[in-house]
Amino acid sequence: MARLVMKFGGTSVANIERIRNVARHVKREIDEGHEVAVVVSAMSGKTNELVGWVNDANRQYDPHEYDAVVASGEQVTSGLLAIVLQEMGLRARSWQGWQIPIETNGAHGSARIVRIDGARLVDGFGQGEVAVIAGFQGVDPATGRVSTLGRGGSDNSAVAVAAAIKADRCDIYTDVDGVYTTDPRVVPKARRLDKVAFEEMLEMASLGAKVLQVRSVEMAMVHGVKTFVRSSFDDPANPQPGTLICNEEDIVEEQVVTGIAFSKDEAQITLRKVADKPGVAAAIFQPLAQANVNVDMIIQVVSDDAKTTDITFTVPAAEFERARAILEKSKDVIGFSSIQASTDVVKVSAIGVGMRSHAGVAAEAFRALAEKGINIRAITTSEIKFSVLIDAAYTELAVRTLHSLYGLDKA
Ligand code: ADP
Ligand code: ASP
Ligand code: MG
Repeated sequence: MARLVMKFGGTSVANIERIRNVARHVKREIDEGHEVAVVVSAMSGKTNELVGWVNDANRQYDPHEYDAVVASGEQVTSGLLAIVLQEMGLRARSWQGWQIPIETNGAHGSARIVRIDGARLVDGFGQGEVAVIAGFQGVDPATGRVSTLGRGGSDNSAVAVAAAIKADRCDIYTDVDGVYTTDPRVVPKARRLDKVAFEEMLEMASLGAKVLQVRSVEMAMVHGVKTFVRSSFDDPANPQPGTLICNEEDIVEEQVVTGIAFSKDEAQITLRKVADKPGVAAAIFQPLAQANVNVDMIIQVVSDDAKTTDITFTVPAAEFERARAILEKSKDVIGFSSIQASTDVVKVSAIGVGMRSHAGVAAEAFRALAEKGINIRAITTSEIKFSVLIDAAYTELAVRTLHSLYGLDKA
């Protein structure tokens, strides 16, 4: 007997028929004698709809009430799955975040899980009960108010519950049958990976591969939760193992680059003719940091006159307007001539722990992209990844080019 967490994403619970299919996966594990806690997302599209309603009501909304609204999608699916499981003859009970409780901090809209008391869930197992948990939501114990964990947060709920109840395994069921070398919807030649290292998955997730939410990977890594990504669309009677997220040492196959990720969630800002003198970078980036705007790639180019410089950097698309307003406000202190900005950009990244021991990996990419006529606007590199910022129109071409370049295409 094992203790399992099974998480099902939005597409997997998109309607009652799919919820029935999810229930069959759950029943299979119960029939094998396992203890099961299920974590569900809202039906696909539901959270977007709820967020849209909040913005229609008031763009300057109170984040506490945003959470009250958007947490409701998961409340519905947890109840529905419990009903369907009961219909199949299983004992099932739904759980909202506050009922468990899943305690979070007070950062409404992207709260962090602080503590989970798994005792009531484990008591339920003792009585032969399946726990059906609403993902994405928790409660701030300081105020007693419902909180949500940020988009894609049900993955985080699942891994955190798995850690709290000391589950043997956390299975993230989704609409693809594992983690691929890149988004299989963009590159048909993408290959499914049997295993991927925590560090690589962390980079892939934070660089745009939304198959797992970043914090869930972090949490699996820290707590050593054995996590698989697998398909809910497999025949429940014939399940496939999917992809295991594991320690680097557990992977035998050696690849320099493991995956390619991309993110359109970027905006580029260029400040023209900034005085080339000490303190300028601080004058630009300090106010942004104070306003919690995350600056990512930075490049500085000295202009012809050698007295001024152009500074280009990227911020998340969602923070773009705020960043621009902050810079306009400090225009006199920074002393630039104009701001140029573009949201029509994409960040394409290559990730692989093998980069630690191989030189020149990024240089090959620059050449390959140049051969395709793709202009690189900015570059960043770190130990196990590099990223290039390019025009969004070239996204697919660039991703496919790098995917082939590093030998990732399936035969
Ligand atoms: P869920 O609703 O189940 O949480 P998501 O839509 O959040 O599912 O994540 C699954 C999607 O992630 C897939 O449909 C796929 O298009 C996308 N994806 C992006 N990069 C990858 C990758 N490297 N491997 C697998 N899927 C990926
Ligand atoms: N329903 C939430 C979202 O769409 C959480 C999740 O699906 O993981 O972001
Ligand atoms: Mg998701």
